[in-house]
Amino acid sequence: MNDDIKSEIRKVALQNAFEHEGKTQDKIVLSKILGTKPEFRSKVKEIIGDISEIVSSVNQLSLEDQKKEIEENFPDLLKPKEKIEEREGLPPLQGAEQGKVVTRFPPEPNGYPHIGHAKAAIINAEYAKMYGGKCILRMDDTNPEAERMEYHAAIKVGLDWLGIEFDVVKSTSDDMEFFYEKGMELINAGKAYVCTCKRENISQNRKERKACKCSLGDINKNNQGWDKMFQKYKPGEAIVRFRGDMKADNAVMRDPVLFRIIDEKHYTLGEKYRVWPSYDFAVAIEDSKDGITHAFRSKEFELRKELINAILDELGMRKPYQDFFSRLEFKGMPISKRILKPLIEEGKVSWYDDPRLPTLEALRRRGIKAEAIKKFILSLGLTKANTLAPFDALESFNRKFVDADSIRLFMVNKPKKLKINKLPFSSIEVPNHPINDMGKRTIEIDGNVLIGSDDAQNLKPGIQVRLLGLGNIAITKVNEEFEGDFVEDGETSNIQKIQWIPQKTAHEIKLLVPNQLFIDEEFNENSLEELEVYTEPHYLKLKEGEEIQFVRFGYCRKDSQNQAIFTHK
Ligand SMILES: [Zn+2]
Repeated sequence: MNDDIKSEIRKVALQNAFEHEGKTQDKIVLSKILGTKPEFRSKVKEIIGDISEIVSSVNQLSLEDQKKEIEENFPDLLKPKEKIEEREGLPPLQGAEQGKVVTRFPPEPNGYPHIGHAKAAIINAEYAKMYGGKCILRMDDTNPEAERMEYHAAIKVGLDWLGIEFDVVKSTSDDMEFFYEKGMELINAGKAYVCTCKRENISQNRKERKACKCSLGDINKNNQGWDKMFQKYKPGEAIVRFRGDMKADNAVMRDPVLFRIIDEKHYTLGEKYRVWPSYDFAVAIEDSKDGITHAFRSKEFELRKELINAILDELGMRKPYQDFFSRLEFKGMPISKRILKPLIEEGKVSWYDDPRLPTLEALRRRGIKAEAIKKFILSLGLTKANTLAPFDALESFNRKFVDADSIRLFMVNKPKKLKINKLPFSSIEVPNHPINDMGKRTIEIDGNVLIGSDDAQNLKPGIQVRLLGLGNIAITKVNEEFEGDFVEDGETSNIQKIQWIPQKTAHEIKLLVPNQLFIDEEFNENSLEELEVYTEPHYLKLKEGEEIQFVRFGYCRKDSQNQAIFTHK
């Protein structure tokens, strides 16, 4: 254990303790260290002792002593943090030449696309656009066990919705013969071998950094093993491994898998192939072959950079520039299939388009605009810090897009009846938007209206209230039902303004209000509220998918004639 890492641990522990009333914890310090120094992920056991020691020594210091030590040894921690700037566009790309940049978005069709996919797709497409280059959509479809046409199609639909255009659309499996060719090249160069060890033994050996006997086999034997993988061996009985370095600190380099046998039917190729390249091998070969100049992946793949370069070096193939960004995930809205799938299976969430989810389909259905997602993602840029974004960050971008063209409609919740006497007209006109010219609508009215029970609470005989767009009413009776007289030239100041719906034409809808799906890792049983509300009949004339601002409530998207979904305030 060198002193640098100890000093780093002390710095992190002091900072965290100082920010939290003088106390920190082992696991917080560990996760911060692993977040900034991924090379220690394989050495957790070696550093955990030091962390524990340092944390306990820091926790024994008074807040004042902690501050003193920070001032002496880590003064940069006390400098005010730079504010994250909202920026237009992405930072310049290293080594990029105008007209020559080629990027790619390689989703695996093994699930519904979500906000994390949007981030990768938008960043890659945007860089290609910035440099007048090309962006390739490559369906990374070499694990038939997990992949389905359903997901492939959903990814296409999601990307279309985001408005991302690709210059080339292909599938990784288009190049199966090329993977075989390159695999054999590695075998014949002694850089790959067929391993027939059991799965448990392989992982045990990796942990103990020991080579297995298969790695001693000669090229002839490996060629025979390779041939047998296409016929004789069953899945799991043999794999091709890259000759990396079983002693490497980076566990990814300990003779990783290049090919494995999968007998599941592939969603487009059926049973044509059974020997499939691993993710690492496929991505290395494809990025080089497709002419990718800049390859981006999310940060959890950072340790694979070394392997991808090693494979391409052995094959004498061109290497792309590789960079990494943090995964995008919202607080309380996990993107992991492992978490979402059981929720759907247990019926806790209706489907992948449930408005509580971070899938593209759900965001669209909730009323989030594709342009807002794009602006939001570009504002985050290429940050590597793994922070959870609050959903309101996206909401504030979306509000700018929906405000200008959302029709304003009245809506009442838990209605009470109000009878208006002496009403001098039978219809009124109200503007559809307070500022923008979105026309007017006519509301027919016979004197019987509904008001919300929150507003009704404050009504007393003798007071005047203003019904928005209609005029003043002097309340005469308060009971289960309310009554009042229309007042010409009524009071104007200090008057309660309330919204209303004509009783006769009131249209009942269900309003879904999505809340945070998880709170502190626990499923939130109250994550979806269902309100039965009444709105104007004009609602029926709006198109499905139109955004509405229900007055004094917030933005909502029309989901159907009988249902709307709350977007945000
Ligand atoms: Zn082996």
